[in-house]
Amino acid sequence: MTSNPTKPVTDTGAAKPSLAGRTFEVTRAGNFEAAHHLAPKDPDHPYGKLHGHSFRVEIGVSGVVKQGEDWVADFAQLGDVLAKVTGELDHSYLNEIRGLELPTLERLCVWIAERVAEDLPRLTRVSVSRPSLSETCTLRLDGES
Ligand SMILES: [Zn+2]
Repeated sequence: MTSNPTKPVTDTGAAKPSLAGRTFEVTRAGNFEAAHHLAPKDPDHPYGKLHGHSFRVEIGVSGVVKQGEDWVADFAQLGDVLAKVTGELDHSYLNEIRGLELPTLERLCVWIAERVAEDLPRLTRVSVSRPSLSETCTLRLDGES
């Protein structure tokens, strides 16, 4: 089935509570593996040596459900947008990517947000984490749109 983000789920006519006016946040997560190093100007810095991580990315879209609609965002569209950006990052050397020369989690959040925002006008959150280290960084965009 092809996803169409502009088309709301079809009303089946069944009795249901109205979602109109309620605010929801829906998220979709993806993963990528990549190498990087940080603090290249300080060779003694513990993050200075080339190493790799498994990264997890989560994008969040928020909004008020409009009258006659039953969702804030199509998960299939979120997945397509996310797969495009994680595909670009997967098995890469992050420091070689324009805009990620110093690839902290904060810069990864901004870099990803810049690439998905056009397709997801209701984007309100980008989180990037390194699960094996229990480290997560979240960029909140609630007040920026
Ligand atoms: Zn690292």
